[in-house]
Amino acid sequence: MKIIRTVSGMQNIARAAHKNGKTIGLVPTMGALHAGHLSLVNRARKENDVVIVSIFVNPKQFGPNEDYLRYPRPLKKDSAACRKAGVDFIFNPSVKEMYPEGFLTWVKVEKLSDFFCGKHRPGHFRGVTTVVAKLFNITQPDRAYFGEKDFQQLTIVKKMASDLNFPVKIVPCPTLREKDGLAMSSRNSYLKPEERKAAKNIHLSLAGAKRKVKKKKTKSIEELLAELEKNLQSTPGLVNQYINIIKPKTLEEQKHHIQLPARIIYAGHLGKTRLIDNIEIK
Ligand code: AMP
Repeated sequence: MKIIRTVSGMQNIARAAHKNGKTIGLVPTMGALHAGHLSLVNRARKENDVVIVSIFVNPKQFGPNEDYLRYPRPLKKDSAACRKAGVDFIFNPSVKEMYPEGFLTWVKVEKLSDFFCGKHRPGHFRGVTTVVAKLFNITQPDRAYFGEKDFQQLTIVKKMASDLNFPVKIVPCPTLREKDGLAMSSRNSYLKPEERKAAKNIHLSLAGAKRKVKKKKTKSIEELLAELEKNLQSTPGLVNQYINIIKPKTLEEQKHHIQLPARIIYAGHLGKTRLIDNIEIK
């Protein structure tokens, strides 16, 4: 396994791989890798000749008061995990390498980037799509792997790849969870012990709401959401940011009567840590 730090070095490797008839799988990450990330890597390893994991804490997707500076960067540990998982290349550029002085270009998917997480984190998805577009041009993947944990991000990236004709298949991967149901996330390491305990209520509450829908024990979306909101709000320290029921393809909010397939999407703060999760209802 090699760590590549320059755009030109990575592009040369990708070009050579394609020339030799090899397929490339890309797993874009910000590092602090956990089993969730590694499930994407394992899938990429099965489906491609060459596996590239990018590790880049992308400043353009953080707001001014967010956790860019304190975001964990355990590169040694991440490299060991990637080596063990059979990764061929880690692409780990500096901020200057990705955004040299005078950088001016943004890639933005309109509409989809402006609600839910986009509303609460202005500019976030524009930062994500800009870096992902660059990563696609740099690593030239046949397949790129994204987690359903970040469901809005996955939908936006799919739309960008399709609208801009990137020759890449976006592969959605299921959310990996801790034993108590909490979605794995690099940000879980910020949680104090009592917050970590309380955090399991997010998934438990979403799963409870899903059960009600499945058993047809609920009358309307409004009623379901009100109950869910109350349940979540009773979790010590948890402050809800949004809870919605959406159509999974378009992210459109559903009203009144639930239509399947649907997804319940959630964001909230537990102390200083922002957590998101979602659950599919088929
Ligand atoms: P991040 O490093 O948080 O930007 O995540 C990199 C990729 O891993 C994204 O596509 C995420 O959706 C995905 N991911 C993060 N957490 C999980 C998880 N618990 N299960 C599956 N995929 C995940």
